[in-house]
Amino acid sequence: MKKIKTKKKPYFRIKFRKLLLVIIASFLLIMATGHAKELVFANDAQQEIKELKDLVKELEEINESHKDKEETLKQYEEKMDRLKKEKERLKNEIETLEEKESSKVAYLTFDDGPSQNTKEILDILKEEDIEGTFFVNKNDTSYGRKMYKRIVDEGHALGNHTSTHEYKNIYKSKEAFMKDFNNMEQLIYEVVDEKPQIMRFPGGSISLSNQRNQVIGEVIEELHSNGYTYFDWNVDAKDASRPSLSKHEIVDNVLEGTKGIDNAVILMHDSSARDTTVEALPEIISKLEKKGYTFKALSKDSPPVKFR
Ligand SMILES: [Zn+2]
Repeated sequence: MKKIKTKKKPYFRIKFRKLLLVIIASFLLIMATGHAKELVFANDAQQEIKELKDLVKELEEINESHKDKEETLKQYEEKMDRLKKEKERLKNEIETLEEKESSKVAYLTFDDGPSQNTKEILDILKEEDIEGTFFVNKNDTSYGRKMYKRIVDEGHALGNHTSTHEYKNIYKSKEAFMKDFNNMEQLIYEVVDEKPQIMRFPGGSISLSNQRNQVIGEVIEELHSNGYTYFDWNVDAKDASRPSLSKHEIVDNVLEGTKGIDNAVILMHDSSARDTTVEALPEIISKLEKKGYTFKALSKDSPPVKFR
């Protein structure tokens, strides 16, 4: 029994010592681990600080380059502003030029028809899709009547140029002129069912003859009260010269004559002898178009071109 007792005591003591040792060892281990962890943390922290510093440095660099870019951007914006203003200025300039271009008008006028050349000229104008003005004389044939009608139907202006165009007769007196003039008006009215509102004096509204000038002056008063407007011209194709001019001479006369004239009333003829006028017409049209002219038919409201 005693033995058992003594055996029991050391057993517990040993166990207790072992336990104590384990506790101490554990305590030491915990302490050591803690310290180790602190060391690891310290290392990590240092690493992190270094990384943060690098990051700050990087950010500073980015900031710096950002500043540079802001400066460049500002410069671009200023440049852009300047370009926008320049664009606006050029746009206005172009508009002014275009306005000036489109305000250049050519009135192609054909006197002394209808003749066989009238048909040719009407065909060319139709082909080119432009309008002209015909100051007509009397041609009371079915062909002549057909031409008056075509002129009106195809959108051209039809003006009275007296019936006979005979200076000796029409410029004898106001009465003689009006009789001849009314004859023409009557024929036009019969064919196209309307009276013209525009006219042109044979030879123009000014003459070298005083007597003729006096008659014209009286006629102008009469015509105004009848609601007519007369037109002379400011460009002469000189296609009524004798002998006839060549096609090229006529083209040159028109191009020379229109220089510096924005509102060109061009005198040409569609009488039977004027074949070269027909030949010159397509080139006159294309060259005037290139110079920026648009083509219109004369009307009462067109800008006046009068010698007096
Ligand atoms: Zn004439």
